Amino acid sequence: MSDTVDVLVIGAGFAGLHMVYKLREAGFAVHGLEAGSGPGGTWYWNRYPGARCDSEVMYYSFSFLPELEQEWPLQERYPAQPEILRYLERVTELLDLHKDFTFDTRVDRLTFDADTNLWTIRGEAGGEWTARFVVTAVGCLSAANVPQIPGADSFAGRTLHTAAWPHEPVDLGGKRVGVIGTGASGIQAIPVIATQAAHLTVFQRTAQFTLPAANGPLDPRMVELWKQNYPEWRRRARLSSAGIPYTPTDVSAMEVTAEERRARYEAAWEQGGYQFGLGTFNDILLNEESNATAADFVRGKIGELVDDPEVAELLTPRGYPIATKRMPLDTGYYVTYNRPNVSLVDLRRSPIEEITEAGIRTTAGLHELDVIVYATGFDALTGPLTALNVIGRNGSALTDAWCEGPRTYLGVAIPDFPNLFTITGPGSPSVVSNMPVSTEQHAEWIGNLLIHLREQGIERVEATREAADQWTDHVQQVASGTLYPRAASWYMGANIPGKPRVFLPYVGGVGNYRKKCDDVAASGYPGFALTAGRTRV
Ligand code: FAD
Ligand code: NAP
Repeated sequence: MSDTVDVLVIGAGFAGLHMVYKLREAGFAVHGLEAGSGPGGTWYWNRYPGARCDSEVMYYSFSFLPELEQEWPLQERYPAQPEILRYLERVTELLDLHKDFTFDTRVDRLTFDADTNLWTIRGEAGGEWTARFVVTAVGCLSAANVPQIPGADSFAGRTLHTAAWPHEPVDLGGKRVGVIGTGASGIQAIPVIATQAAHLTVFQRTAQFTLPAANGPLDPRMVELWKQNYPEWRRRARLSSAGIPYTPTDVSAMEVTAEERRARYEAAWEQGGYQFGLGTFNDILLNEESNATAADFVRGKIGELVDDPEVAELLTPRGYPIATKRMPLDTGYYVTYNRPNVSLVDLRRSPIEEITEAGIRTTAGLHELDVIVYATGFDALTGPLTALNVIGRNGSALTDAWCEGPRTYLGVAIPDFPNLFTITGPGSPSVVSNMPVSTEQHAEWIGNLLIHLREQGIERVEATREAADQWTDHVQQVASGTLYPRAASWYMGANIPGKPRVFLPYVGGVGNYRKKCDDVAASGYPGFALTAGRTRV
């Protein structure tokens, strides 16, 4: 690939596959680059034991492939990683997308030339491409966070990260395994690793609220009904608040008696999934008192599920409102700590001092290990974008532009960085939604904008500073009306040392956000400076 393309897309997950397909079908010369050896994105990299979706299967797929939608088997409520990867591989094959991508290519520099209005894209291992437009589809959760722990290189055993799990099976049989981290990845991996390892030691920094997934096979009659009505469910998902049309409630947790509250929580707990947070009361994320009732209910469940009261207490989250850190769904997480081969280390009480040849040393002593698993998450939303080392108009670096936090227009465009679009960028619903709904909305919206520019003979498009400032302030304002900012979460950048503390996704709702984007398109794209050029794109 040496010719200049109209559009270069980075990433081959849900977002990149859709974007390349949409633009190719619209007649653009488009090419994709992907760091992995194949498509799948999240589901290519995160192959750890227990990895699975926590969006219900019928919503976790593309909505624009009606034949595949009908033929793809819906088996479990929450599909496991191999099945989702197979789905995305099937999509790639069906849409003949392999030929449009170069795999095994990590982009490490993007430079805009203001004279030619062209981007130069550099591959980490060599290779250079030029494009009129760049669309990043690099994911929100694709830059793994590897904490810098003194002595980590000296460990004589095997070191793994959940987000870069080997492709070949990992045999943990007879091994002493340590897992650092109890977010969604750790909470999925821990119960499975516990059944494989000789001994599992969990290193917990912050106790996490988690809800039962109640995963299981789907009733074939329900699946049939579902498939008959797919377009309607898709429509509802697009207009919903989180990309999954849970039936909203208008009841406050403070309006009902303690008995009724408990009954509602109990029913939602039994039902499993996010019904607990999204379908019980309308103010769990808005009102501190309401939130406390939900938090207390889950704390009570931990006490019932975990045999040893001291371990139960360590596992009990305190000090932040429930659901303000991204809540996982689990399968047997709390009861895993009743197993004789599982122990819990509280890093608040005894922090990690160093990793030695033999294992992990905390201030309380050495834990000898054969395998260390980092389940330590991601430099979320901004990490994959800043890693691209983007240099925009006037030589401005994205890392400098965002040194106090990201500023975007609608999460898709950045002032000073013309002809660059970011799918599910910071300031869009992204990670607070069922993500395929959001990647689809962005791919369609960006694709339609590029078609509009082609029709109008526009060569350069750039978000204005004013529009980005207004949007970014709006994103912060909406978040500050909720309890979200009360937790030191990755939504706030709090998991990465030195990262600015600003709320990263847009919590104004998927349906509302879609409407705002549609209004911008219908009004001729206010908030963007459009420059007509000599050559039509
Ligand atoms: P990704 O799937 O992350 O794909 C981005 C791709 O870009 C990757 O393949 C990456 O290699 C590539 N890339 C990044 N940087 C570069 C570079 N510099 N050069 C070249 N290539 C690059 N969301 C939900 O809605 N529901 C769920 O149940 C759910 N479960 C999840 C489970 C796990 C374990 C994780 C980590 C995330 C989960 N998510 C879930 C979020 C998930 O990331 C999205 O659902 C979705 O897969 C995002 O698709 P994407 O294409 O935007 O990004
Ligand atoms: P995460 O939620 O950020 O959790 C990382 C864990 O590692 C936290 O417990 C964190 O503690 C701990 N940690 C980080 N740095 C540490 C350090 N230096 N020392 C000790 N502990 C440290 O990451 P994740 O579990 O990979 O999940 C990230 C997101 O991916 C999820 O929130 C979700 O959006 C998505 N995901 C979804 C699923 C699913 O079920 N569908 C599964 C996995 C992931 P602190 O809390 O103290 O920071």
